[in-house]
Amino acid sequence: MGGPVRIAIAGMHIESSAYAAHRASFRDFSVLSGPQVLARYDFLDPAAEWIGILHARSIPGGKVLREVYDEFKQRILDGLRDAGPIDGLYFDIHGAMSVDGMDDAEGDLITAIRAVIGPDVLVSAPMDLHGNVSERFARAVELPTCYRLAPHEDAGETRERAARHLVEHLATGKRPHRAWVRVPILLPGEKTSTRVEPAKSLYGSLAAIEAREGVTDASIWIGYAWADEPRCHATVIVTGDSSSVIAAAASELASRLWEARDDFGFVGPPGSLEDAVSRALASPTRPYLISDSGDNPGAGGSGDVTWTLSHLLSDISRFDGCLVYVASIFDTAAVEILFGHRVGDQVSVTAGARVDSRVSGPVPISGTLHGLHTGDPDAGRIAVVRCGGLHVIVTEFRKAYHHVDDFTAIGLDPAAADIIVTKIGYLEPTLYDIANGWTLALTPGPVDQDLARLGHHRIERPMFPFDAFPAEPALTVTML
Ligand SMILES: [Zn+2]
Repeated sequence: MGGPVRIAIAGMHIESSAYAAHRASFRDFSVLSGPQVLARYDFLDPAAEWIGILHARSIPGGKVLREVYDEFKQRILDGLRDAGPIDGLYFDIHGAMSVDGMDDAEGDLITAIRAVIGPDVLVSAPMDLHGNVSERFARAVELPTCYRLAPHEDAGETRERAARHLVEHLATGKRPHRAWVRVPILLPGEKTSTRVEPAKSLYGSLAAIEAREGVTDASIWIGYAWADEPRCHATVIVTGDSSSVIAAAASELASRLWEARDDFGFVGPPGSLEDAVSRALASPTRPYLISDSGDNPGAGGSGDVTWTLSHLLSDISRFDGCLVYVASIFDTAAVEILFGHRVGDQVSVTAGARVDSRVSGPVPISGTLHGLHTGDPDAGRIAVVRCGGLHVIVTEFRKAYHHVDDFTAIGLDPAAADIIVTKIGYLEPTLYDIANGWTLALTPGPVDQDLARLGHHRIERPMFPFDAFPAEPALTVTML
């Protein structure tokens, strides 16, 4: 005996829409391996020995290609074998990964990991509250926890909490119990933001529950709606030393979540795209933000759905005299053509819908080349084309325009714009701060906010809001 506890770090982090035509390939992932992994964290307790294995992270997208998942999984398993005996695993994941031809990807990954590390290693997992938590997953992970804010301003705090819980339990040698409850609710993130009720109070109550004697952590996964698997539903897990206290707390939280189900509404004023444009043009205050929510890459959208851009270009004269930024369409071939021109040239290209053409086809863009930019780590090369009042952003690869900095990096000042149309759901903090008017446009696409338009076939029924509940659901507490 003696020596510090040994904790390995591994994980795959992506949120993937099963309704997107995009597929996440090796290019989509930033990969850290070995000691590089440790640089991701500034809170690792120096009293423990931390062993970086592999961390692969992608911005949200479509399903992960099977061969990509299989390779990362194998590298994690090999790395853990090579690491020798460990006391703990810090399993750093998102929780809404979809993989071609597979259900419950995180459940598959942790099951394979358990076969290598054995049953005695304590596993802690920081997750997104938009993750899905199957019973199989929950059985394999003693210390799961998730964000308590959406937007996720507490992501760092959550990772730190997961590491602290792991170190504390390894120090005392105690193994926590879990109380797991499946709650038959499936809602989009834009109806469950913690900026508004009822999510604000529900998530706000977790710290007080966690402070109870015998409780280590209390978490609510609201779940991820743009996948179609039996594990898609809300989940409550309370962990701790006292079975009776955590069972009661989990039951209480699940009941409160269920009772609040009818109160979840869109975080911002929703409307059709046409409603959004009319309101924006009439708005006395600027800039007016329009969320093109159906193709939000941040939730798993493909990023090249042209439905909104086509609509804006179809009646472009009404934007005369306006400064409108439209972000964005990715199209490698169109960017190649645009980079053959000089700024100021008249240009004509057809862009978008190379990956996702299910709701609209490629769109012709004609105008003045306004800017060319290189070196964006996600977008690669970027061209801006001015068409009347519109500045249309075309990128080489997928990118989300979710922050003021994304625009200023290519010489566009969002604060000076009249209207900003971007592929996003709820507004991330810097855009939220500058918005002087906003519509959450319910546009069609791979992350359609109107879930009924998607057609789920494999979720367990009945499910709110798809089905009527003749009686209260059981909300059974399963002790793990
Ligand atoms: Zn999330």
